[in-house]
Amino acid sequence: MNAPELTSLVQLETLDGVYPGISVVVPVYNEVESLPRLVNAIASVLQENQYHYEIICVDDGSTDGSTALLKQLALERSDLCGVLLRRNYGQTAAMAAGFNSARGQVIISLDADLQNDPADIPLLLAKLEEGYDLVSGWRQQRQDAALTRLLPSKIANWLIGKVTGVAIHDYGCSLKAYRAELLADMKLYGELHRFLPALAFIEGAKIAEIPVRHHSRQFGKSKYGLGRTFRVLMDLLTIWFMKTFLTRPMHVFGYLGLVLMGLGLACGAYLSFLKLVLSQSIGDRPLLILVAVLLLTGLQLFCFGLLGELLMRTYHESQGRPIYRIREIAGRQRHKGEI
Ligand code: UDP
Ligand code: MG
Repeated sequence: MNAPELTSLVQLETLDGVYPGISVVVPVYNEVESLPRLVNAIASVLQENQYHYEIICVDDGSTDGSTALLKQLALERSDLCGVLLRRNYGQTAAMAAGFNSARGQVIISLDADLQNDPADIPLLLAKLEEGYDLVSGWRQQRQDAALTRLLPSKIANWLIGKVTGVAIHDYGCSLKAYRAELLADMKLYGELHRFLPALAFIEGAKIAEIPVRHHSRQFGKSKYGLGRTFRVLMDLLTIWFMKTFLTRPMHVFGYLGLVLMGLGLACGAYLSFLKLVLSQSIGDRPLLILVAVLLLTGLQLFCFGLLGELLMRTYHESQGRPIYRIREIAGRQRHKGEI
């Protein structure tokens, strides 16, 4: 096992306070009936296992009274923190808000609608302890509508697996456990929360998947329909682009540009030969147009590659993001402030 040990999932004492070992992050959008049961269920599972934890419920602009209930619960319970967003931003943004407020070494995410079962949390943690950076739940017996949910999800999971190279069965399952330092490296946009395993893979994470329980929705209704499939496909394009081009745009665009320009030059040389040596007229030849198009597109692609390289450098350097990720440094004590 070469990943840092998690055995200290108890309180973490630092200079500026005592932090819990585990943060449970829950995005909440109009889930007023489920909330009290959910919070009780999470708390009892974690207390049984004697973990030091905090529950972070992010209210994503609910309109059904979830906001007021959450405020009330946060007043009553010391283990609950409510992050109330100004309006409805969507599940990804809500999760990102929760991740940013989390203080634990391990972060667990799950849905507020009781479809995920908090009783599975210890299983995820046990797997994480084996040395993984991300453990994802797999809803083997998923309780959702077959035609509108299960089928699109099967196709999407297969496609995402192919494109990203991370073949897990169930990208859509919200019940996941992450090492906090992994999440700190990842930025979420659009509806990218379901691609977290793929983003994590780009960051070099070790990923595992374990079967988890899944219940049908008891209260409220699902916030998604078939339309989500298309948004997921668009996000998949983004991921593919990031995975392929983010590190070396010049390798792709520059190479393609050079090939096109080479072809253009070869055809141009042939036409010049006809004109200059054999004194033929070339003004009415379609090949002449092709030469112009090839040279121009080739040049443009090449410049695109150069611009891409510049943008990529700005991206990495402006954010202080190195192009590599270190899992662990062995044999040297790291001090605060040391790189
Ligand atoms: N959710 C959210 N903001 C939204 C939509 C959903 O925070 O705009 C939350 C919702 O409250 C739930 C989770 O995201 O906790 C998953 O939503 P839902 O159960 O509707 O999705 P499904 O399980 O049907 O895929
Ligand atoms: Mg649900």
